[in-house]
Amino acid sequence: MSEAETVVVGGGPAGAAAACGLAMAGREVLLLERERAPHHKVCGEFVSEETRAALDLLGIDVEALGAAEIGEVALHFRARTAAAALPFRAFSLSRYRLDAALLRRAEECGAHVRRGISLLGLVRGDAWWTLRCADGEVIRCRQLVLATGKWPVRGLAEARDASLVGLKIHLRLPPSQERALSGRVELFFVPGGYAGLELVEDGIANLCLVLRRATVKALAPGWAALRDHLAAASPRLGERLFGASPHWDKPLAVVCPAGGHRESEAQGLYRVGDRLAHIPPLAGDGLAIALGSAALAADHIRRGASAAAYLAGARRLTRRPVRLAGALARLLAHGAAPALLVGAASMAPGVIAAFAKATRLPLAARSPR
Ligand SMILES: Cc1cc2nc3c(=O)[nH]c(=O)nc-3n(C[C@H](O)[C@H](O)[C@H](O)COP(=O)(O)OP(=O)(O)OC[C@H]3O[C@@H](n4cnc5c(N)ncnc54)[C@H](O)[C@@H]3O)c2cc1C
Repeated sequence: MSEAETVVVGGGPAGAAAACGLAMAGREVLLLERERAPHHKVCGEFVSEETRAALDLLGIDVEALGAAEIGEVALHFRARTAAAALPFRAFSLSRYRLDAALLRRAEECGAHVRRGISLLGLVRGDAWWTLRCADGEVIRCRQLVLATGKWPVRGLAEARDASLVGLKIHLRLPPSQERALSGRVELFFVPGGYAGLELVEDGIANLCLVLRRATVKALAPGWAALRDHLAAASPRLGERLFGASPHWDKPLAVVCPAGGHRESEAQGLYRVGDRLAHIPPLAGDGLAIALGSAALAADHIRRGASAAAYLAGARRLTRRPVRLAGALARLLAHGAAPALLVGAASMAPGVIAAFAKATRLPLAARSPR
């Protein structure tokens, strides 16, 4: 059995940022990530102003990594479209590139990063957490930062919500569509869900969507069935996707919780990122929550503040955007709401900017120090 003061489980943005924050403060930290190498993840890959600011603080420059700039958002429902300038400067960058850069940064800062180690279960003792890994290794630690994203861990009772599925695929669009998409993120409302399309680095288009699980199950596997389903549900999206070539045979898929905070707390357990709170993807700010909560957790651990104090602060930080985006996502899943929203936004584009602003994390609250 090995021992460490602080272990971070999960090497996504939340885990990597927590490890950076701790290592930058001179703390010894061990990070365990189950994947052996960088990998693609289901994500719209929209980098909001708050996400970019949090990355800057960690020494990561998204523009230097090749991120595409996004200045406009367009909403589509059937034949109707509403577009507005974003009220902040945004970017888009593949998670493949971003997550790899964050883990590299954690190592540069002095964190001990171990890839290919999967946590199977954990037990809380008097003052220690005991972690059981898939290869049989057992590790003890005093503070545990849980950053496993949407994946629950055995040993912590948690409700599981699997009614929605997130899908993602990278595409090469025909040149005319690539030009039309340049500089904007487009949201297409379809029955029971929505799809986002934007260019990431190197002119690659990222199509990312949320659909009901039952809808996804009824589709034949592979890109062609998904494309035809989307084209039938949204002719505007069909135009964008006509002639597109996928980078993979079939989209990546992940369970997508409807939104909200997670329950069940224990001493010495710091939940960060999606393990703390899930904001519906249409807000495009899950990464900011991951980075902001990680910075807060690192700060509390560094100061010896309790997990309960961290949790209270993290909830204050994330409550408003999570609630607001959750309410909108629930509304948009029903009947005429998407038509009403796109109709209202086409007459008053300020509606889009106001929602985009209201679902941001408060900037002042997410400094790592
Ligand atoms: C459809 C969809 C679209 C989205 N679009 C956007 C967007 O455009 N912009 C935005 O800001 N946010 C978006 N989000 C949200 C964003 O993707 C998440 O909030 C973000 O990935 C959370 O980061 P994380 O580090 O908490 O989790 P993750 O990125 O999921 O990282 C978790 C890590 O833990 C590892 N892991 C899991 N289990 C174990 C284990 N047992 N042992 C060891 N390692 C483990 C995984 O391999 C993974 O690397 C979207 C989410 C969805 C579902």
